[in-house]
Parts: sequence; C-alpha cells; structure tokens
Amino acid sequence: MYKLDEFMAELERKNPAQPEFIQAAREVVASVIDVVNNTPKYLNNKILDRIVEPERVVQFRVEWEDDNHQIQVNRGYRVQFNSAIGPYKGGLRFNKNVTVGTLKFLGFEQIFKNSLTTLPMGGGKGGADFDPVGKSDNEILRFCRSFMTELQKYIGPDTDVPAGDLGVGGREIGFMYGQYKRIRQENTGVLTGKGQTWGGSLIRPEATGFGALYFTNEVMKLNNDTLKGKRVIVSGFGNVAWGAVTKATELGAKVIAISGPDGYVLDEAGVSTPEKIAYMLELRSSNKNIVAPYAEKFGAKFVPGKRIWEVPCDIAFTAALQNELNGDDAKLLIKNGVKYAIEISNMGCTPEAIEAFQAAKIPFCPGKAVNAGGVAVSGLEMSQNAEHLKWAAADVDAQLHRIMENIFAACVKEGKQADGYVDYVKGANIAGFKKVADAMCELGY
Ligand code: GLU
Repeated sequence: MYKLDEFMAELERKNPAQPEFIQAAREVVASVIDVVNNTPKYLNNKILDRIVEPERVVQFRVEWEDDNHQIQVNRGYRVQFNSAIGPYKGGLRFNKNVTVGTLKFLGFEQIFKNSLTTLPMGGGKGGADFDPVGKSDNEILRFCRSFMTELQKYIGPDTDVPAGDLGVGGREIGFMYGQYKRIRQENTGVLTGKGQTWGGSLIRPEATGFGALYFTNEVMKLNNDTLKGKRVIVSGFGNVAWGAVTKATELGAKVIAISGPDGYVLDEAGVSTPEKIAYMLELRSSNKNIVAPYAEKFGAKFVPGKRIWEVPCDIAFTAALQNELNGDDAKLLIKNGVKYAIEISNMGCTPEAIEAFQAAKIPFCPGKAVNAGGVAVSGLEMSQNAEHLKWAAADVDAQLHRIMENIFAACVKEGKQADGYVDYVKGANIAGFKKVADAMCELGY
C-alpha cells in the first residue's frame, strides 16, 4: 500500500531542488493513490515508483555565436519520460529559467495529457535555458541549428517527436527542422508545428486555444450556462492566447483583458477584431515580450506592473506560465465574482489557488485536460505525415472538437463527486493515468 506523505518525502529526497516537478507529481499521486491501492496489478507492478522516474534524461551543451561574434553557451535538454503508449511527444521550451526540474514537471504532465487525447503518444519535453527575448533572427537561427545538431541524435518520427512551447514557434521549428533534414537527409514527421508548405497540419497553430474553448463550452453546457456575453480575461498574449481569444469571441464571449510580463491591458471594447488579435501575435513575435503597445495602438487602458487577476470577470483563463495564479489571486477573483477558472497554461495555478476555487465550488479545469488540443493536433500532424497526406482544415477541426469532448467526458466520469461537483483535476489525472498504467503492466518491466 502506498502512503502519500511517505511516497512524496522519498520523491523529494531523490529530486532535490525540483519544486515544480514535485508539485506536479504530488497532484497526480494524490489523485490516483486510492485507485492504485485498490488495484492489485498496479501494486504488484510498482506502477507509482516507476511512473515518476523518467525513462531517460539527455542534457547537452549548446554553443552558438552571437551578433558580436562572441561564443555563447547554453544547456539543452530532452526528458524522455514515458513511452508506454507511444513515441515520446511534447514541446521544446526556450526560456532563461528552464532547468531540468522545469522540464521534468512538463514531461510528467505531458504523459497524462497525451494519454487523455486517446492518441498513441508517450510523454516527453525538452528545451534550453536560452532567452529568446531581444535576440536577432540570425542569433535564433544559429542557436536552433546548434541545438538540433545535438538533439537529432536522440529523436525520430517513431521515437520522439518534439514540437513548440514557450519561446519556440513556427520560426524556430523551421530552423530546427531544416537542420534535422540537412543532417539526416529525411523528410519525416520528426517535429510537429511545421509550416503549412512543408508538412504542417492545418489548425495546429490555433489548436491549443480552440481546444481550450471547446472544452470550456462543454463545462458551460454541464452547468446549464453559455459563453454568450461572458466577460473573459486571458493572461498572456502569445499563440495560445491568440487561439483562445479568437474562439471565445466567435462563441459570443467578450475578452476584456490580456497581459504580458510588463502588466495588463484592459480593453472594455473587447479584444475582438481580427486586427487586434493579429497585433497581439505581432507583438509576441517581436521578441520584446511586452503588451503595452497594444493599449497605445487601440486606445485601451494599460495597467503597468499589475496582475490581470484583479480584473472582475466571469471566466479567468491562464495562458502564460506555470504558477502564474496563486492563492491570493484566486481569492480576489472569487471575491470579484468569477464563475469559472480555467487553466490553459501547464500548471498555471498553484495548489493553494486550486484549493480556493474548489472550496468555493467554482469549476476549476486543469491545463493537462484543457490545453490537450495542441498536442492532439500534433498527433494528427504525425498521422498526416505518416500517410504523406494533408487533411482539410474542417476535418482536423472536427477531430479536435471530438477529442476535446471525449477528454471532457473522461474528466467528468472519473471526477464527479457525490454532490455533483466535478473535480476536474482528479478526473483528468485518473483518466490519463489508467491507460498508461495498464500499458506499463502489459509491457512488463
Ligand atoms: N507544448 C505543447 C504542450 O504543452 C504542445 C506539445 C506538442 O504539440 O507536442 O502540450
């Protein structure tokens, strides 16, 4: 029999200075421990001990030359966490704060998220402590080439298929795919999020945000509610926020605030027109990482240095970073009447925030279910690449929609409490876990 505190104490001892990984692991273990203790095959197969240990962690030196002809050194990683149900799959994050602990947390989350999509994908994550902010195109190119020169040794279309994440968008995927092709002489689906003329899937850029809104729409229906007329705030202003704002607007909600590291923009007219949404993306790809110019351009209010969570709203979406919404933010949102709290970023809320939302019986939906549409369409991109075909946008969108409905149904099935309140955290963790655990039992140790 496993005991939560004992198990977590040992995990912390083995993984010092990896607080994000410990946080992600604690949440999953707490959700599934009863299931494990009541299932003899999971106990006999030591599933919990095995599932928290990555199959492989690769770390490498990335050397590149900046525009002043100085040699720079970064650390690159790929965490190949679990391949029980398919090739490792998950993004690459370029951010100055990336450590092996960050990527272990993200790789661990990815195992259950990918399982929830119902597609055959294992969990992995990678990246580097490279800071893209303020870098020139040529510096990004040189970094990506050098990074892939090493990473290509460990990945392949049936082994491990990276994609984008924070700091890695279409441009970076292009530079990395180019280098992979140069070295390996292969046109394969080794990366997803590729450009539309060289193997990318339609709807992949929109998929995370669209999927999040398809999921939210199901949550609304369950609560006899609708997105129409809801006041929405979205932290972040990148690719994920863009998809979410676009679909939320299409479904009748009004997005009144977006944010960046410099503060938030309050746009009472709504971040709704294609021009505004396109400008959001332009800002993001400018490599400056600030949202203030949006307010100036469209006559909205910019609130410097403040947190977006002080804006009263019906629905709060996290779409930036892990732990971006804490217990105090949650209490403020609740005080101001928030009705739904929805993570689109991975682990966007701290455990204290989740506890506050759940105690107030506000539906809280975790990133690993809500944002799974991104990796789901990556899975569909792999299928298209494997059959050397390209599907129509409407076909991909319909599959994405169906996948998100299935994820929602799985969360409700495993997370519905006696009083009818749905614990989506528990639901997502149990549903994602069972499939991987069964596969691990069937494959032997
Ligand atoms: N980085 C995204 C995520 O967190 C996408 C991963 C992928 O498409 O492989 O799920």
